[in-house]
Amino acid sequence: MEIDADLFRLDGKVALVTGGSRGIGKAICLGLATFGADVGILGISSATADTVREIERRGRRALFVPTDVSRIDEVRAGVAEVERVLGGIDILVNNAGVGVVTPAEAVTEEEWHQVMGVNLRGLFFTSQAVGQSMIRRGRGGRIINIASIFGIVGSELGASVYHASKGAVVNLTRALACEWAKHGILVNSIGPGFIVTDMTAAIHEQPRLEELLTRRHALGRFGRPEEIVGAVIFMASAASTFVTGENLFVDGGYTAW
Ligand code: NAP
Repeated sequence: MEIDADLFRLDGKVALVTGGSRGIGKAICLGLATFGADVGILGISSATADTVREIERRGRRALFVPTDVSRIDEVRAGVAEVERVLGGIDILVNNAGVGVVTPAEAVTEEEWHQVMGVNLRGLFFTSQAVGQSMIRRGRGGRIINIASIFGIVGSELGASVYHASKGAVVNLTRALACEWAKHGILVNSIGPGFIVTDMTAAIHEQPRLEELLTRRHALGRFGRPEEIVGAVIFMASAASTFVTGENLFVDGGYTAW
């Protein structure tokens, strides 16, 4: 039996990441490039140019296409542009996400649409656009959805819409895995615990809340964006050819108790 020492390499692959300007998405972009992939990025902020530079410094090609993933027309155009410049997409990482903190009894329709528009509709239609192309090319592919621990547990934090969106992502992952298995497209999700990024920055200004949430992780700390990278490389590479429809928690043990 041969075990390939390059099991995790991604040389010659083209990856697409949504939301690569900062936080977890930026770490994922740099991780994919480090393991050999060229990387296209759909996002809004011009700060993404910095991620592009860091990818190129690693000797890989990179392309940023300004795109609001909640706008389906922009997503379709962005996917087409990445394929035109970098070639057919082998790996999609749906990372872009937003949250609002509002008690459930006060959530507005606008907040609902904002969170669902990025976290669920954007993720679905980006997957559809890339999935159509993967099916046409007939070479399979990988789709990796960044879900959350909040996709399977609740909280008292006023994040009900976010919980709903991430719960939907976890089960949408299973549905797409079942539908697209016949095309060789493997679809998995990752459920991060609390990670130190802009999204969680406000927590650090509330010492009692920070301590409460820190203690909910068995490892007794928040994670770092780069700690998500290993799971992404696993799901993107030949290391996971028999894994689909799975949700892998990278949560310091938050969901272990
Ligand atoms: P972050 O630092 O707030 O970054 C959010 C990213 O999403 C940015 O790159 C942003 O791009 C992109 N984005 C937001 N709205 C977008 C839109 N309409 N179109 C395109 N891109 C958009 O958040 P993060 O903590 O890195 O979160 C990344 C993912 O991990 C999200 O799906 C989040 O739900 C998930 N997650 C985070 C945590 C955590 O504790 N941090 C835990 C579990 C899951 P621009 O800057 O270009 O707008």
